Amino acid sequence: MTGYVNVLIAGGGPAGSLSAIYIGKEHDVTVVEEHQSAGFPVQCAGLISESCYTKLREFVSDRCYLNDIKGAFFFSPDGNYLEMIGDSKAVVIERKVLDSELLKRAAKYAEVRLKTTFKHAEGNIALLKSPEGAFTVEYNILIGADGASSSVARTFGFRKPEFFSALQFECGFEAIDSEMVELYFGRRYSDSFFGYAVPVDEETARIGVVSREDSLHYLNNILEKHPSVSRRVKKRKLLELNAGVIPIGIVNFVKGNVALIGDSAGMVKPYTGGGLYYHLVAAEILGMAFPDLNAYREAYMKKMGLEYRIGEKIHHLYSTLSDEDYNMLVKVGREEQIGEIVKNLHMDSPSSMLKILPKILKILSKNPKLFARVGKTLL
Ligand SMILES: Cc1cc2nc3c(=O)[nH]c(=O)nc-3n(C[C@H](O)[C@H](O)[C@H](O)COP(=O)(O)OP(=O)(O)OC[C@H]3O[C@@H](n4cnc5c(N)ncnc54)[C@H](O)[C@@H]3O)c2cc1C
Repeated sequence: MTGYVNVLIAGGGPAGSLSAIYIGKEHDVTVVEEHQSAGFPVQCAGLISESCYTKLREFVSDRCYLNDIKGAFFFSPDGNYLEMIGDSKAVVIERKVLDSELLKRAAKYAEVRLKTTFKHAEGNIALLKSPEGAFTVEYNILIGADGASSSVARTFGFRKPEFFSALQFECGFEAIDSEMVELYFGRRYSDSFFGYAVPVDEETARIGVVSREDSLHYLNNILEKHPSVSRRVKKRKLLELNAGVIPIGIVNFVKGNVALIGDSAGMVKPYTGGGLYYHLVAAEILGMAFPDLNAYREAYMKKMGLEYRIGEKIHHLYSTLSDEDYNMLVKVGREEQIGEIVKNLHMDSPSSMLKILPKILKILSKNPKLFARVGKTLL
């Protein structure tokens, strides 16, 4: 069987569905999704900013809403913590519902073929595989929204982002406050990132870790050895276990008539691994620029380039700071009431830190060693 499609999108996750929604209003689009439904397997803590949720609500119902988040506790390795409550809030969502509703919405603007896998492409002909067998389609433009292990990126020789592993447990948890996320820093809890607990409700949380290697070792340390978490986690009430990868480092995501979007392009926040907001921004820009893919790349990098650059510096801090530095940071942060200074920070925009950076550096300058380390990495 052969055929012709104008725009072929590989992948019906959030990046693919959002692209189909934004492009499909004016162009003829086909989405191929290898699974029989979207949002499977789930690989997400479901934490997004309130502004991102508001925008996504244009396309999905409130069935994906689970919990409100007003801020975060930053834990140093010694178990001490700093409270940060910002002016902007966040929301916890259910990805299974979000992904499935987004794909349904995409089906209003595009033809969606489930259980159909993109295998390869050459000379504008894509080889696809469905339960009925392999077939080819000719396309004009190909969008690779097929996640971190993208076949489109591999086929066209795009550079790969750096992969970090993520492991997450959904289980019973006695949160200090069920509207506060908890972040766990220190060498014992990750070699290059941090551990987290995202409360789903008053009794349950998604507890996870992102690391370069051996995330199981670090997750075990959080669950069993962390001075605060180990006392509050109820492992017997295990509801779900998820493993996945976080692709860090945006790559050049356009080559001729092929573009990447989402995890395939490394479009995640380098400082948290969160992807949904960046995919939403990218899909909206892709829709506006379409069919000019170079204009898509330029407009996206113009809007987000600074966020990536600052985000990468913050990410670099995680591997630079020692346990002693983290303990000192939280101690100084509490003494100097840093929580008040960082109120205006927005979780999607690390550049919002630029305005308060001088104040933070001034506080840190009271501790020359810490100042040298943080200042050198950030500046
Ligand atoms: C443990 C964990 C926690 C996370 N927590 C958060 C969070 O709290 N907030 C946040 O914003 N982000 C979070 N993320 C990141 C977020 O989940 C990803 O950025 C997001 O899912 C990527 O969306 P995507 O559409 O690019 O790729 P995916 O969600 O991976 O979707 C890709 C789709 O393409 C399909 N596909 C793959 N290959 C093919 C093919 N060859 N042919 C056809 N279809 C194919 C797949 O079946 C899938 O449906 C987390 C990630 C992990 C691993």
